[in-house]
Amino acid sequence: MGAMERVISQMSYDMRRKRYLGKSKKQSRNPQHEIHHRAKSTSGRQVYMPVLALGGGNAKKVIGILLIAIGVILILTRCFGGSRKDAVKDINEKKVVYETQTSYENFIQDFNIEEEDLKVLLDLSLRYKQDYAHTLGVWAVESYKGGSMAQVKQCLRQYRPENEIDDFGMYDAATKLYKQFIYDIRKFPLKIRKGYTYENGWKQSRTYNGNRLHYGIDIMSDTNESGKIEVISMTDGIVENVGWNETGGYRVGIRSPGGAYFYYAHLDDYPSHLQKGDRIDAGDLLGMMGDTGYGTEGTRGKFPVHLHIGIAVKTKDQVEFWINPYALLKYTEDK
Ligand SMILES: [Zn+2]
Repeated sequence: MGAMERVISQMSYDMRRKRYLGKSKKQSRNPQHEIHHRAKSTSGRQVYMPVLALGGGNAKKVIGILLIAIGVILILTRCFGGSRKDAVKDINEKKVVYETQTSYENFIQDFNIEEEDLKVLLDLSLRYKQDYAHTLGVWAVESYKGGSMAQVKQCLRQYRPENEIDDFGMYDAATKLYKQFIYDIRKFPLKIRKGYTYENGWKQSRTYNGNRLHYGIDIMSDTNESGKIEVISMTDGIVENVGWNETGGYRVGIRSPGGAYFYYAHLDDYPSHLQKGDRIDAGDLLGMMGDTGYGTEGTRGKFPVHLHIGIAVKTKDQVEFWINPYALLKYTEDK
């Protein structure tokens, strides 16, 4: 038996023993046998405090089990740490697909909706007590099929989850895509409301790194001065990427609570304290608008000063693709 097997067999033995101990703990009403007990902290919040209040013999056993368990955890993290890390791998910005797999997803990706219609849909979802993401999902499916807004309204009015059968589960799939970002977006990504311009430049052509299309929106600085305009987070979330990437320059990538990835690129600089894993609130400073990117770290001035905004969502097959943020920028700009 190798060392690993010994540890595993010891572990399963210990687990059986622990289960046994757990049983006896349950049977006993004696609070002295509680390994954990709840205590009230001075602030009045309940906290869990580990207390070893067992008798001498049991305490030794428990300490022994704990030590073995810690050992096993250490060994397992050493052996499988790599693959575990892979399983929760961060976004690979280069692998976010540009072309979606179906024309229907393509429709969602282009997100060609007037700001006014976004508001109409919000009103409809309130009136018919439907989730906003669902309302958008219905809008996407019906519009994709060529339906009018009146038809969308009809679908929402009649919609009952239990009797809704659509051929490809498209409502559901679409709703899941919108759910990843629609409730999370709170702020326009700039603090100011003048001194910038942007247009719907989705899928315009770009030539850096070969001919390609543009999968985001650029907000241009009117004065073309780097480091002057504050860029803030549109959503709450966790910092998933921060620092240099060849195309994006200094960039920050935030994973929103709903699961979408928000990509803020070409920053002049970003706050030095900002680190992967940091929690961010909507409105937090992510850096200053700049002109970095298209080269090795520190490359500047290859294009005018602007902020590139990208938003990526995941399909049920875990394929990430960019969607057009234009309508969402218009929507948040007025807020
Ligand atoms: Zn761009």
